[in-house]
Amino acid sequence: MRAEVVGVGTELLLGQIPNTNAQWISERLAEIGVDVLHHQVVGDNPERIEEALRHAISHADVAIVTGGLGPTQDDITRQAVAVVAGARMLRRPELEEMIREKFARATRQMPQSNLVQADVPEGARVILPERGTAPGLAVEIEGTLLYALPGVPAEMREMMEETVLPELASLAGPASIASRIIRCVGIPESRVAELTDDLFQASANPTVAYLAGGGEVKVRFTAKASSREDAEALLEPLVEEVVRRIGDHVFTTTDEELEETVGRLLRDAGKTLACAESLTGGELGARITSVPGASEYFLGSAVCYSPMAKRTILGVSQETIDGPGVVSAECAREMAWGARRLFGADIAVALTGAAGPQPHGGAEPGQIWAALEAEGVSHQRGLRSPGDRDLVRRWAEQAGLDLVRRHLQGKLLPDDHRQA
Ligand code: ATP
Ligand code: MG
Repeated sequence: MRAEVVGVGTELLLGQIPNTNAQWISERLAEIGVDVLHHQVVGDNPERIEEALRHAISHADVAIVTGGLGPTQDDITRQAVAVVAGARMLRRPELEEMIREKFARATRQMPQSNLVQADVPEGARVILPERGTAPGLAVEIEGTLLYALPGVPAEMREMMEETVLPELASLAGPASIASRIIRCVGIPESRVAELTDDLFQASANPTVAYLAGGGEVKVRFTAKASSREDAEALLEPLVEEVVRRIGDHVFTTTDEELEETVGRLLRDAGKTLACAESLTGGELGARITSVPGASEYFLGSAVCYSPMAKRTILGVSQETIDGPGVVSAECAREMAWGARRLFGADIAVALTGAAGPQPHGGAEPGQIWAALEAEGVSHQRGLRSPGDRDLVRRWAEQAGLDLVRRHLQGKLLPDDHRQA
């Protein structure tokens, strides 16, 4: 069963509100195994709404339209449905009664205009509202089942949950969707796709989606089968194969955050961690402490932004500051060393860099150095982040967390310090 979702409302086109209805509806449809092939958004314009409805009807088995069922001039979805269905509009006395009653119960004067909500295209079924006053509509047009629902999210959800989803689930038959997410760091999306694409081209089930952002790449697989167990069984071998191909860059197959992975590894190893942060300004510590139970392994983070703070608090040498500079492998190493001593930690990780947009400490914007110090280990990693200040800082956090992960998993790359 294939579906289209149509949002009606000029405010959606103007960007004044996000189209959360489409997102929510798509999620619910996926859960019952209905494929959503197309989203449309149209303004409050009769011809364009009709055009959108015709497109949906000619492409999908089910069309779900939200918005424009209200009583005002710009609420014209009901009329457009009647035009496309080629049906007359009939006023239903029982609906008129219901609307009058709702207003009476709320002891409110009913504007006459509200009675248009009692108009229904001939042959359409009505979905009665509990919360709002706008009835939803269900009508079959050229073999496509079209639902028109109110735009107000709570009113739309009520009708979806109580009427539309149960109807569609019984039409679609038993179907279950299962998803798995593999998350990787330190590898570009294009490389991930190159390594794994051939696994998916052959079949549309399972499907794959790559999602890059925030200094990581997510690979999401989705499988459809008649039961959840069967869908999961389709995914299991794929997850294994994709992890084998992407290798060390994978930090989780259970959709945990990188700071959670690091926390779990530290706890398992019984090791403590401390940080020294320059360009991230404490965000690394904030992420580590966002994980419940972090006090078991996290000792603290020293935010040392100025060269003076790096020197007096962390003990970075004047020679390093004057020589290679504050954005250098040497400075990162000395910061990590200082943090390890300062906190008495088993492992210390340090971040320094030029967050941009201006060059900093003689380094180009985007230049990052991360360093890790532990018993018998002194490791630095340089990288160049693209993007704006927020992204550079995020990449730095990812690099720092990933160094700790790799260290604890025995996967530090020997020549990391040459990747600047
Ligand atoms: P009403 O009876 O309240 O007029 P309606 O069916 O006419 O309902 P709209 O007028 O199109 O719906 O939208 C009412 C409100 O619902 C909007 O102001 C907006 O806040 C919200 N809304 C509409 N469409 C969407 C959408 N696609 N996603 C999220 N919110 C929406
Ligand atoms: Mg309205």
